[in-house]
Amino acid sequence: MDKIDIKSLQVEEVKNLMVELGDKAFRGKQIYDWMHVKLADSFDEMSNLSKSLREQLKERCELINLTVVDKLESAAGETAKYLFRLSDDRVIESVLMKYHHGNSVCISSQVGCRMGCKFCASTIGGLERNLSASEMLDQIYKIQKLSGERVSNIVVMGTGEPLDNMENLLTFIKIISDENGLNISQRNITVSTCGLVEKIKELAHENLQITLAISLHAPNDTVRKELMPVANKYTIDEVLKACEYYFDKTGRRITFEYSLVEGVNDSKEYALELSSRIKGLNCHVNLIPVNPIKERNYRQSESKYIQNFKNILEKNRINVTIRREMGTDINAACGQLRKSYMDQGK
Ligand code: SAH
Repeated sequence: MDKIDIKSLQVEEVKNLMVELGDKAFRGKQIYDWMHVKLADSFDEMSNLSKSLREQLKERCELINLTVVDKLESAAGETAKYLFRLSDDRVIESVLMKYHHGNSVCISSQVGCRMGCKFCASTIGGLERNLSASEMLDQIYKIQKLSGERVSNIVVMGTGEPLDNMENLLTFIKIISDENGLNISQRNITVSTCGLVEKIKELAHENLQITLAISLHAPNDTVRKELMPVANKYTIDEVLKACEYYFDKTGRRITFEYSLVEGVNDSKEYALELSSRIKGLNCHVNLIPVNPIKERNYRQSESKYIQNFKNILEKNRINVTIRREMGTDINAACGQLRKSYMDQGK
């Protein structure tokens, strides 16, 4: 019989499990507290449980526990990248970013990715598997424990397409924002997607307070298809309609991510075209100078192009910011650290 992944269970489910094991429901609450507040790494740490219950738990359940393989800190100390090993020996990466307003962790949602975006290192080896809710949670728990920093914001922008792993993503969001756990406000959680239209609509029905970020990266389908294979499946019109739907249902403003790639999507004309397409949508645009990866020839747009692009959006009264680059000295772009680790054949 497969062991129960107890860290992926919601508090009521842990209580029910305790009753099933012939114990009291409140024990479930105690165990949940050990896992999601005290961030225990083992059942043996759960000192207010009897030895026999701890043994019973070890027999029936596994407590997912990531181990650190490597940690790289940027020279300025504001960014740290963690490489974690999973119980099946696969590795994933997560990033801690320290801002004035608090600490943000960028987590992975899958091992690898099958979306195939041309500029992204995470997708080069394809998708290996989904991460469980517990494996998403433990990235945050381990970073909080190891760094001693309280995590207040989460971005699901690491390796993987979160909406391609919807069920586990939803469980993750419920547990991380649960008042019985770390209680991180859903308003401080951003989920980034390449734009899976049906899944965006499904997510809208969950009535969450999270921010949805859409990787747009192009003002029209022709340019988008050059960068993102998913554009062959959904048109920008369909994606934007799904965004409107999401906003209508949740009242949450959408973020559009636009990675600027020299000579591909960074011209003035494209800035104008983008402006006219998203005008009237309640949104915010995040311009990201593309992070070049060695497997591709894409280059970052020059800063004057980036500034021009921003100015044009602003003239058209679109909220826009340029993402501050952090941690490029430590391979902090999606999937780069994991990729270089795998390339060494470890
Ligand atoms: N699959 C999701 C989330 C992971 S990627 C998505 O597509 O949104 C998070 C963001 O980083 C996406 O906007 C993605 O397009 C962008 N990204 C990936 N690699 C990048 C790179 N080398 N330079 C700039 N942005 C990159």
